[in-house]
Amino acid sequence: MKAAFLTEIKKPLVIQEYDPPQPTGNQVLIRQSLTGICFRDVLTRDGFMPRVKIPIIPGHEISGRIVAVGPDVKGFNINEKVASLIYTPCGKCEFCLRGDENLCPNKITFGEGVNGGYTRDVIANENSLVHVPDDVADADASLAACVTGMLYNALVRVGKLQAGERVLISGAGGGVGVHAVELAKALGAFVVAETSSKWKEEILYKMGADIVVSGEGFDRTVKEKTGDGVHLALEGVGLPTFDRSLRSLRTGGRMVVIGNVDPSPVPLPLGIIILKGNSIHGSISSTREDMRKVLEMTSQGKIRAVIHEKIALEDVNKAYGEMKEKKSVGRIMIDLSR
Ligand SMILES: [Zn+2]
Ligand SMILES: [Zn+2]
Repeated sequence: MKAAFLTEIKKPLVIQEYDPPQPTGNQVLIRQSLTGICFRDVLTRDGFMPRVKIPIIPGHEISGRIVAVGPDVKGFNINEKVASLIYTPCGKCEFCLRGDENLCPNKITFGEGVNGGYTRDVIANENSLVHVPDDVADADASLAACVTGMLYNALVRVGKLQAGERVLISGAGGGVGVHAVELAKALGAFVVAETSSKWKEEILYKMGADIVVSGEGFDRTVKEKTGDGVHLALEGVGLPTFDRSLRSLRTGGRMVVIGNVDPSPVPLPLGIIILKGNSIHGSISSTREDMRKVLEMTSQGKIRAVIHEKIALEDVNKAYGEMKEKKSVGRIMIDLSR
């Protein structure tokens, strides 16, 4: 079969023939039909993940049916539908033992430390897997770890979002942002969506946003329209929006930082944080428990993957370009069944 390889930083991925190994120990072999392209993959190619071991198959949005199991696998069988965390946790550290495996310092990320999802058949350890309900579509299963599960971790586990609270989502028009709007609505929040692309406004209203804001001083619009600001700000952009997101918080408000598309450091206005008693938290990836929660919500019809398009593996470099130019709404997925 074919796989896309990252062979050199800042260079296009190379499509090559690839024979996946047979699973050993606690590993399984997963046959995928679809896999998501993440902005993190673009950042990896561009050299922002210095620990990446090249050459490597990128991608970490892995799901499918098990087609082979190693001799020590206990919890999974051939033909079962599964989705994987974006990493393999060690299973032994204090974080793993208390169910916070997303904080595991020994975790190995797919597409960075081991071969990832940009090929049909992928080797994964069983301790990175959850079962997927039969009525959940492949695209939703593929996004359960890195997109919807990650957002569940940020909004619920870290952000303590309660139904009826107001939440600001910066970069809401991006592949992650649109899902954040959808999930926050499904959790009963009042959603303020921020986008730098004016043309995405209408789409965001369709996704369920209650208010859409854009432009330099969007925090003023947030304050005008909500009275005293939002309870929770989900910040996934970085420098271009961080300050305005922080200023959109009401007294006692929380910010959860999930990403920095722009990796430059941000200025931190300490006075605002102190005077308003605001808090800033980081949230990374998801746990298997988060994945089970969002897969259940998907099965109940509460959330659904937003797909921009399905592309052939050969078109992956073109898709990276499109993502950098913010031309897409929703996830670009690689169709591995062709
Ligand atoms: Zn991802
Ligand atoms: Zn661990």
